[in-house]
Amino acid sequence: MAQGSHAFSGSFDPSQLDAWVAAAKALAHQGRIPDYIPNLGKAHPDWLAVQLHLADDWVYQTGEVAQPFVLMSVIKPFVLLYLLEYFGTEVVFSWVGMQPSEYSFHSIQQLKVDRGFPRNPMINSGAIALAGHIPGHDGTVRCAALCQWLNQLSGARLFLDEAMLASVRSVGNETNRTLAKILAQAGYLDSIDLALDTYNQICCLAGTVDDLVRLGLLLARSHHQIANAHRRIVNALMLTCGLYEASGAFAVRIGLPTKSGVSGALLSVIPGVGAIACYSPALDSSGNSLAGLFLLEKLTQELALSIFA
Ligand code: GLN
Repeated sequence: MAQGSHAFSGSFDPSQLDAWVAAAKALAHQGRIPDYIPNLGKAHPDWLAVQLHLADDWVYQTGEVAQPFVLMSVIKPFVLLYLLEYFGTEVVFSWVGMQPSEYSFHSIQQLKVDRGFPRNPMINSGAIALAGHIPGHDGTVRCAALCQWLNQLSGARLFLDEAMLASVRSVGNETNRTLAKILAQAGYLDSIDLALDTYNQICCLAGTVDDLVRLGLLLARSHHQIANAHRRIVNALMLTCGLYEASGAFAVRIGLPTKSGVSGALLSVIPGVGAIACYSPALDSSGNSLAGLFLLEKLTQELALSIFA
Protein backbone atom coordinates (compact mmCIF):
# COMPACT_ATOMS: atom_id res chain seq x y z
CA MET A 1 0.00 0.00 0.00
CA ALA A 2 1.75 3.13 -1.17
CA GLN A 3 0.13 6.43 -0.28
CA GLY A 4 0.99 9.67 -2.05
CA SER A 5 4.45 10.70 -3.12
CA HIS A 6 7.51 11.91 -1.30
CA ALA A 7 11.03 13.10 -1.94
CA PHE A 8 12.25 9.54 -1.38
CA SER A 9 9.92 7.99 -3.93
CA GLY A 10 12.14 9.04 -6.83
CA SER A 11 14.74 6.47 -5.90
CA PHE A 12 12.33 3.85 -4.59
CA ASP A 13 10.87 1.19 -6.81
CA PRO A 14 8.32 -0.97 -4.97
CA SER A 15 9.03 -3.90 -7.30
CA GLN A 16 12.62 -3.76 -6.05
CA LEU A 17 11.29 -4.09 -2.50
CA ASP A 18 9.38 -7.21 -3.55
CA ALA A 19 12.63 -8.70 -4.87
CA TRP A 20 14.42 -7.93 -1.58
CA VAL A 21 11.55 -9.39 0.41
CA ALA A 22 11.82 -12.60 -1.62
CA ALA A 23 15.60 -12.68 -1.03
CA ALA A 24 15.07 -11.94 2.68
CA LYS A 25 12.60 -14.82 3.00
CA ALA A 26 15.11 -17.20 1.43
CA LEU A 27 17.79 -15.92 3.80
CA ALA A 28 15.51 -16.39 6.81
CA HIS A 29 15.82 -20.16 6.36
CA GLN A 30 19.47 -19.88 7.39
CA GLY A 31 18.40 -18.34 10.69
CA ARG A 32 17.00 -19.96 13.78
CA ILE A 33 13.60 -19.55 15.40
CA PRO A 34 14.22 -19.44 19.15
CA ASP A 35 12.26 -21.96 21.18
CA TYR A 36 13.47 -21.30 24.73
CA ILE A 37 10.04 -19.67 25.09
CA PRO A 38 7.73 -22.39 23.65
CA ASN A 39 5.31 -19.96 21.98
CA LEU A 40 8.12 -18.15 20.15
CA GLY A 41 8.96 -21.49 18.54
CA LYS A 42 5.55 -21.58 16.85
CA ALA A 43 6.54 -18.77 14.46
CA HIS A 44 7.19 -19.65 10.81
CA PRO A 45 10.45 -18.60 9.11
CA ASP A 46 8.46 -17.45 6.05
CA TRP A 47 6.57 -14.79 7.97
CA LEU A 48 7.84 -11.39 6.99
CA ALA A 49 6.28 -7.97 7.31
CA VAL A 50 7.77 -4.55 6.74
CA GLN A 51 6.40 -1.02 7.00
CA LEU A 52 8.22 2.16 6.03
CA HIS A 53 7.00 5.55 7.17
CA LEU A 54 9.11 8.21 5.51
CA ALA A 55 6.51 11.00 5.64
CA ASP A 56 2.87 11.09 6.65
CA ASP A 57 1.89 10.79 3.00
CA TRP A 58 4.61 8.23 2.27
CA VAL A 59 3.80 4.98 3.97
CA TYR A 60 4.53 1.62 2.38
CA GLN A 61 3.90 -1.82 3.79
CA THR A 62 4.17 -5.35 2.45
CA GLY A 63 4.07 -8.96 3.66
CA GLU A 64 2.18 -10.40 6.65
CA VAL A 65 1.32 -6.94 7.93
CA ALA A 66 -1.74 -8.06 9.91
CA GLN A 67 0.32 -10.60 11.89
CA PRO A 68 0.79 -9.44 15.51
CA PHE A 69 4.04 -10.29 17.30
CA VAL A 70 5.47 -9.65 20.75
CA LEU A 71 7.98 -6.83 21.06
CA MET A 72 10.36 -8.62 23.45
CA SER A 73 13.50 -6.44 23.63
CA VAL A 74 12.09 -3.79 21.31
CA ILE A 75 10.23 -2.53 24.38
CA LYS A 76 13.58 -1.65 26.03
CA PRO A 77 14.10 1.79 24.42
CA PHE A 78 10.55 2.72 25.40
CA VAL A 79 11.07 1.70 29.01
CA LEU A 80 14.09 3.99 28.99
CA LEU A 81 12.07 6.83 27.45
CA TYR A 82 9.27 6.33 30.00
CA LEU A 83 11.64 6.44 32.96
CA LEU A 84 13.56 9.43 31.58
CA GLU A 85 10.26 11.29 31.40
CA TYR A 86 9.38 10.21 34.93
CA PHE A 87 12.65 10.63 36.77
CA GLY A 88 15.04 12.60 34.54
CA THR A 89 18.48 11.78 33.19
CA GLU A 90 20.55 11.95 36.35
CA VAL A 91 18.41 9.51 38.32
CA VAL A 92 17.97 7.03 35.47
CA PHE A 93 21.69 6.89 34.71
CA SER A 94 22.42 6.18 38.35
CA TRP A 95 20.49 2.93 37.74
CA VAL A 96 21.98 1.93 34.38
CA GLY A 97 25.05 2.70 32.26
CA MET A 98 25.44 3.93 28.68
CA GLN A 99 28.29 1.77 27.42
CA PRO A 100 27.98 -0.76 24.60
CA SER A 101 28.69 -4.40 25.45
CA GLU A 102 30.63 -6.89 23.38
CA TYR A 103 28.82 -9.78 25.04
CA SER A 104 25.42 -11.25 24.23
CA PHE A 105 22.18 -9.66 25.42
CA HIS A 106 21.81 -11.92 28.46
CA SER A 107 25.49 -12.07 29.44
CA ILE A 108 26.13 -12.82 33.10
CA GLN A 109 29.85 -12.36 32.55
CA GLN A 110 29.39 -8.73 31.45
CA LEU A 111 27.41 -7.91 34.59
CA LYS A 112 30.04 -9.57 36.78
CA VAL A 113 32.87 -7.66 35.06
CA ASP A 114 30.91 -4.48 35.80
CA ARG A 115 30.43 -5.49 39.47
CA GLY A 116 26.66 -5.61 39.17
CA PHE A 117 26.16 -2.23 37.48
CA PRO A 118 24.14 -2.93 34.31
CA ARG A 119 26.09 -1.70 31.32
CA ASN A 120 23.25 -0.30 29.20
CA PRO A 121 19.43 -0.33 29.00
CA MET A 122 19.28 -2.35 25.75
CA ILE A 123 20.58 -5.62 27.24
CA ASN A 124 18.68 -7.80 29.72
CA SER A 125 20.58 -6.73 32.85
CA GLY A 126 19.88 -3.05 32.18
CA ALA A 127 16.26 -3.58 31.21
CA ILE A 128 15.59 -5.77 34.27
CA ALA A 129 17.15 -3.09 36.49
CA LEU A 130 14.94 -0.44 34.86
CA ALA A 131 11.85 -2.67 35.08
CA GLY A 132 12.48 -2.62 38.84
CA HIS A 133 11.98 1.17 38.81
CA ILE A 134 8.79 1.44 36.74
CA PRO A 135 6.16 3.08 38.98
CA GLY A 136 3.29 0.85 40.14
CA HIS A 137 2.76 -1.68 42.92
CA ASP A 138 2.94 -4.83 40.78
CA GLY A 139 4.01 -6.02 37.35
CA THR A 140 0.49 -5.98 35.95
CA VAL A 141 -0.14 -2.36 36.94
CA ARG A 142 3.30 -1.32 35.67
CA CYS A 143 2.88 -3.05 32.32
CA ALA A 144 -0.63 -1.67 31.82
CA ALA A 145 0.53 1.89 32.61
CA LEU A 146 3.46 1.67 30.18
CA CYS A 147 1.19 0.18 27.49
CA GLN A 148 -1.42 2.89 27.96
CA TRP A 149 1.20 5.67 27.92
CA LEU A 150 2.70 4.40 24.67
CA ASN A 151 -0.66 3.91 22.99
CA GLN A 152 -1.91 7.32 24.05
CA LEU A 153 1.22 9.14 22.85
CA SER A 154 1.74 7.20 19.62
CA GLY A 155 -1.71 6.05 18.47
CA ALA A 156 -0.47 2.44 18.52
CA ARG A 157 -2.75 -0.35 19.76
CA LEU A 158 -0.30 -2.44 21.74
CA PHE A 159 -1.81 -5.21 23.86
CA LEU A 160 -0.52 -7.79 26.31
CA ASP A 161 -0.15 -11.21 24.62
CA GLU A 162 -1.46 -13.32 27.51
CA ALA A 163 -0.67 -16.64 25.82
CA MET A 164 2.96 -15.61 25.29
CA LEU A 165 3.19 -14.42 28.89
CA ALA A 166 1.87 -17.78 30.11
CA SER A 167 4.46 -19.47 27.90
CA VAL A 168 7.27 -17.27 29.31
CA ARG A 169 6.11 -18.06 32.85
CA SER A 170 5.83 -21.79 32.15
CA VAL A 171 9.57 -22.16 31.59
CA GLY A 172 11.02 -19.48 33.85
CA ASN A 173 14.35 -18.00 32.83
CA GLU A 174 17.32 -18.94 35.00
CA THR A 175 19.70 -16.59 33.21
CA ASN A 176 17.47 -13.57 33.79
CA ARG A 177 16.99 -14.62 37.44
CA THR A 178 20.76 -14.85 37.89
CA LEU A 179 21.16 -11.37 36.37
CA ALA A 180 18.49 -10.05 38.75
CA LYS A 181 20.22 -11.65 41.76
CA ILE A 182 23.55 -10.05 40.85
CA LEU A 183 21.81 -6.68 40.41
CA ALA A 184 20.15 -7.06 43.83
CA GLN A 185 23.39 -8.07 45.54
CA ALA A 186 25.09 -4.98 44.11
CA GLY A 187 22.26 -2.75 45.34
CA TYR A 188 20.73 -1.98 41.93
CA LEU A 189 17.48 -3.86 42.49
CA ASP A 190 15.12 -3.98 45.47
CA SER A 191 12.78 -6.82 44.53
CA ILE A 192 13.99 -9.57 42.21
CA ASP A 193 10.51 -11.05 41.71
CA LEU A 194 8.84 -7.73 41.04
CA ALA A 195 11.49 -6.67 38.52
CA LEU A 196 11.39 -10.02 36.69
CA ASP A 197 7.60 -10.15 36.58
CA THR A 198 7.47 -6.58 35.26
CA TYR A 199 10.17 -7.37 32.70
CA ASN A 200 8.39 -10.53 31.53
CA GLN A 201 5.11 -8.70 31.12
CA ILE A 202 6.45 -5.70 29.21
CA CYS A 203 8.38 -8.04 26.87
CA CYS A 204 5.00 -9.61 25.98
CA LEU A 205 3.44 -6.38 24.77
CA ALA A 206 2.45 -7.05 21.19
CA GLY A 207 1.33 -5.32 18.02
CA THR A 208 1.77 -5.24 14.24
CA VAL A 209 4.41 -3.50 12.11
CA ASP A 210 2.03 -0.54 11.95
CA ASP A 211 2.02 -0.28 15.75
CA LEU A 212 5.79 -0.60 15.82
CA VAL A 213 6.24 2.18 13.27
CA ARG A 214 4.05 4.42 15.43
CA LEU A 215 6.34 3.76 18.39
CA GLY A 216 9.31 4.59 16.16
CA LEU A 217 7.77 7.93 15.20
CA LEU A 218 7.71 8.86 18.90
CA LEU A 219 11.50 8.71 18.81
CA ALA A 220 11.91 10.24 15.35
CA ARG A 221 9.96 13.46 15.76
CA SER A 222 9.28 16.18 18.29
CA HIS A 223 6.30 15.45 20.50
CA HIS A 224 4.89 18.01 22.91
CA GLN A 225 4.74 15.41 25.72
CA ILE A 226 8.31 14.14 25.30
CA ALA A 227 11.54 16.05 25.91
CA ASN A 228 13.72 16.21 22.79
CA ALA A 229 16.76 15.60 24.99
CA HIS A 230 15.26 12.27 26.09
CA ARG A 231 14.55 11.19 22.50
CA ARG A 232 18.15 11.98 21.60
CA ILE A 233 19.45 9.84 24.46
CA VAL A 234 17.26 6.87 23.51
CA ASN A 235 18.24 7.14 19.83
CA ALA A 236 21.95 7.32 20.69
CA LEU A 237 21.71 4.22 22.87
CA MET A 238 19.75 2.36 20.19
CA LEU A 239 22.50 3.15 17.68
CA THR A 240 25.34 2.08 19.96
CA CYS A 241 23.69 -0.79 21.89
CA GLY A 242 20.37 -1.72 20.24
CA LEU A 243 21.68 -4.73 18.30
CA TYR A 244 23.89 -5.93 21.17
CA GLU A 245 27.41 -6.96 20.16
CA ALA A 246 26.51 -6.40 16.48
CA SER A 247 25.61 -2.72 17.09
CA GLY A 248 28.90 -1.30 15.82
CA ALA A 249 28.83 -3.24 12.56
CA PHE A 250 25.23 -2.25 11.87
CA ALA A 251 25.87 1.41 12.72
CA VAL A 252 28.19 1.23 9.72
CA ARG A 253 25.96 -0.93 7.52
CA ILE A 254 22.61 0.71 8.33
CA GLY A 255 23.43 3.96 10.10
CA LEU A 256 20.14 4.28 11.98
CA PRO A 257 19.19 3.81 15.64
CA THR A 258 17.82 0.26 15.59
CA LYS A 259 16.43 -2.16 18.17
CA SER A 260 15.79 -5.86 17.86
CA GLY A 261 13.90 -8.44 19.90
CA VAL A 262 14.09 -12.24 20.03
CA SER A 263 10.63 -12.42 18.51
CA GLY A 264 12.17 -11.15 15.24
CA ALA A 265 10.82 -7.63 15.73
CA LEU A 266 13.09 -4.87 14.45
CA LEU A 267 12.65 -1.11 14.57
CA SER A 268 14.78 1.60 12.97
CA VAL A 269 14.30 5.27 13.73
CA ILE A 270 15.10 7.83 11.03
CA PRO A 271 15.55 10.96 13.17
CA GLY A 272 13.56 13.92 11.89
CA VAL A 273 12.01 11.76 9.16
CA GLY A 274 10.20 8.57 10.17
CA ALA A 275 10.67 4.91 11.00
CA ILE A 276 10.93 1.43 9.53
CA ALA A 277 9.50 -1.64 11.28
CA CYS A 278 10.14 -5.25 10.29
CA TYR A 279 9.05 -8.59 11.57
CA SER A 280 10.76 -11.84 10.57
CA PRO A 281 11.23 -14.42 13.34
CA ALA A 282 14.39 -16.30 12.27
CA LEU A 283 17.43 -14.93 14.11
CA ASP A 284 21.16 -14.67 13.54
CA SER A 285 23.77 -15.72 16.11
CA SER A 286 23.44 -12.41 18.02
CA GLY A 287 19.67 -12.84 18.41
CA ASN A 288 18.77 -10.27 15.75
CA SER A 289 16.30 -10.87 12.91
CA LEU A 290 18.38 -12.15 10.01
CA ALA A 291 16.00 -11.21 7.20
CA GLY A 292 15.00 -8.00 8.96
CA LEU A 293 18.57 -6.72 9.08
CA PHE A 294 19.12 -7.73 5.45
CA LEU A 295 16.04 -5.76 4.39
CA LEU A 296 16.94 -2.76 6.52
CA GLU A 297 20.39 -2.63 5.05
CA LYS A 298 19.02 -2.72 1.51
CA LEU A 299 16.40 -0.07 2.24
CA THR A 300 18.67 2.35 4.05
CA GLN A 301 21.34 2.08 1.40
CA GLU A 302 18.93 2.40 -1.53
CA LEU A 303 17.04 5.32 0.03
CA ALA A 304 20.19 6.92 1.52
CA LEU A 305 18.63 7.01 4.98
CA SER A 306 21.77 6.76 7.13
CA ILE A 307 22.01 9.57 9.70
CA PHE A 308 25.64 9.88 8.67
CA ALA A 309 24.51 11.27 5.26
N1 GLN B 1 12.20 -11.65 27.14
C1 GLN B 1 13.37 -11.91 26.37
C2 GLN B 1 14.43 -12.53 27.27
O1 GLN B 1 14.76 -11.99 28.29
C3 GLN B 1 13.84 -10.67 25.71
C4 GLN B 1 15.22 -10.76 25.15
C5 GLN B 1 15.36 -10.23 23.77
O2 GLN B 1 14.39 -9.92 23.08
N2 GLN B 1 16.58 -10.17 23.29
O3 GLN B 1 14.91 -13.56 26.96
